[in-house]
Amino acid sequence: MRILKMQSKFLDVFLESLEKFGALYGPVRRNGILTFDRVEKTSELEISDDHPMIPLKKLFHPKRFTMLHFNEKGFYPDYSMIEKRIIIGVHPCEIHGLLRLDEIFLKEPADPYYAGLRENSLIIGFSCMPTESSICKSAGTDIVEEGFDLFFVNLKEFYLVWVGSSRGHDMIYEREEFFEEDVSHDDIQKYIEWRNKRNKVFKTHIDFKSMPDIMELSHDSEVWDYFADKCLSCGQCSMVCPTCNCYNVTDVFDVTNETTGRRERVWDSCMFVDYSLVSGDHNFRAKRADRLKLWYTHKLKSFGSEYGSPGCIGCGRCVETCPVDINVLTVSQALTNREVPQK
Ligand code: SF4
Ligand code: SF4
Repeated sequence: MRILKMQSKFLDVFLESLEKFGALYGPVRRNGILTFDRVEKTSELEISDDHPMIPLKKLFHPKRFTMLHFNEKGFYPDYSMIEKRIIIGVHPCEIHGLLRLDEIFLKEPADPYYAGLRENSLIIGFSCMPTESSICKSAGTDIVEEGFDLFFVNLKEFYLVWVGSSRGHDMIYEREEFFEEDVSHDDIQKYIEWRNKRNKVFKTHIDFKSMPDIMELSHDSEVWDYFADKCLSCGQCSMVCPTCNCYNVTDVFDVTNETTGRRERVWDSCMFVDYSLVSGDHNFRAKRADRLKLWYTHKLKSFGSEYGSPGCIGCGRCVETCPVDINVLTVSQALTNREVPQK
């Protein structure tokens, strides 16, 4: 992979030169909250170590959108949300989250909405330092080798820039004069020092390799009842998790005409009590303990059996979000130690 060097002072001008590749998106503050959104100017971007609480999945698997319109003659897919975009400031674990979603949505038959959004999006990744709750080192998602067009590692006075695709090269050619081919021994040393310093900052760890066996052995563990007593079934953990991808589909009829309307797709969560409700009023997971077990079994065992990597990319959002401290850390620790957390 080609690695170039760019002085930090050129970053803003370089990013501004990319507008012709599509609408700009990235982390931006809206009403005081960091979120991935469209920006008019690159000066609005807030690229930092913090992550938006709602992950990048919202730009590829939107919270709510119209899939199609229908009338008495048939139906017409609505792809109007698909546009050419550049998404800037994407952290490594978030890129891994997208690669996990690719496994689900691009598997044949591919989801045309996700595929269209993915195909029309350029990804510019940025390095970050771990936060208190980052588990990405354990998940192997603290570095990234694919899934981006450009990736910037911030070494203060300069960036090392990984070029990950031919579209990445096209962006570089826009301001070729900013990029140096010669990456010196000293530059590489600085990169290694940065990696070592970063590795020492991680405070939390999960042994993801042993989790599938532990999950298998924990089917009847009292740990599930302990967490079920606390869980509020609010579904926040699913909303913030970059790999959660469940949705519901609803037909909305026009008020003036009973044969026309639209089909909407909306995020859903297996933590909600009505998620497994089927006709006849049967509910396969009416108990909170069963829903928690499903969520964590999927993240820590079955996703890995099917796709080769865990369904957790270690972003730490469930750690920061759950109001009653149920998260991938507390659950995996309780299952591993065979004891519930002390109050
Ligand atoms: S585990 Fe926490 S965030 Fe998830 S549904 Fe239960 S209370 Fe809400
Ligand atoms: S389970 Fe928690 S830490 Fe893992 S990817 Fe989901 S939100 Fe992030």
